Amino acid sequence: MRLVDSHAHLDMPEFDADRPDVVRRAFAAGVAAILCPADLTRPESFPAIAGLAAEFPTVLAAAGVHAHQAKDFSPSHLSRLGELAANGSIRAVGEIGLDRHYDFSPAAAQAEALRAQLAFAARAGLPVILHSRLSGPDIVAAVDGERFGRGGILHCFTEDWATAEAMLDRGFHISFSGILTFPKAGALREVAAKVPLDRLLVETDSPYLAPVPYRGSGRRNEPAFVVETARVLAGIRGLPLEELAAATTRNFAALFPFEKAPA
Ligand SMILES: [Zn+2]
Ligand SMILES: [Zn+2]
Repeated sequence: MRLVDSHAHLDMPEFDADRPDVVRRAFAAGVAAILCPADLTRPESFPAIAGLAAEFPTVLAAAGVHAHQAKDFSPSHLSRLGELAANGSIRAVGEIGLDRHYDFSPAAAQAEALRAQLAFAARAGLPVILHSRLSGPDIVAAVDGERFGRGGILHCFTEDWATAEAMLDRGFHISFSGILTFPKAGALREVAAKVPLDRLLVETDSPYLAPVPYRGSGRRNEPAFVVETARVLAGIRGLPLEELAAATTRNFAALFPFEKAPA
C-alpha cells in the first residue's frame, strides 16, 4: 500500500529533535511522499523543510504566509517567494487562506495576503495550498477575483458541500485530515462521500489534529498516521483501503509528479 501525506508541518519545533526519523517512519508505514508547507514569517521554517527535501527526494516543499500570520505579510515575502520559485525550491504556494475561526489576523490583512499570493502563484504558474476555516464563500470569491486557474489543494477540508463543489468546479483537489475520524464529524463525512474519487487527498496536518486512535492522548501527529484517515475515508467510500490509498496517491502524483519515470 502506498499513501501520500499531502500536508505536514514538519518545520515546527515539535519535530526539531527527530525530523529525519519522522520521515523514515512515514516511509516505513507506506507513505510515498509528503508535502510540507513552510511559513515565510519564521526564518527557521523554510530551511528545516529544505533540509528534508534535500535528504529525501519525495519530501516536497511549499512556502507562503498563512492567514494566521497575515498581519505580518509584506512585499518582502513576495520577493522571497520569487527567489524560491525561480530556483525550483517550491512546488506550490501555501499554505495561504482565510480563517474566521481563530481570527489571529484582521480580516482585511488575511484577504490582502491571500490575494497577493494568489496573484504571485498565477504569475509563477504554481498551484496553491489553500486553508479555509468558516470562510468557504470568501475563498471561492478570492480564487475568482484573481481568475486563478492553476488549481491546487483545499487542505484540511472542514467547509460545506457548496464550497467543495465550487472548488471542484475550479479544478481543486480536496484534502481530508484526521478531523474526518473524529466522532462528531458526521457532516464532514457526508461531504467526503461525495467528492469525486479522482480529486480526493488525505493529509495529517502534523503536528496537529492526530486522528483517532491517537487523538486525545496529547500525542504529536506525524505523517505515518495518515493511514488512519485513509482507513476512515475508505470506509465512507465503501472501498478497500488499498484502493483508496492508490487513488489518493495517484491524484497527488497528477498534481505534483514526485517520481521520475523509469529509465
Ligand atoms: Zn491549514
Ligand atoms: Zn497546515
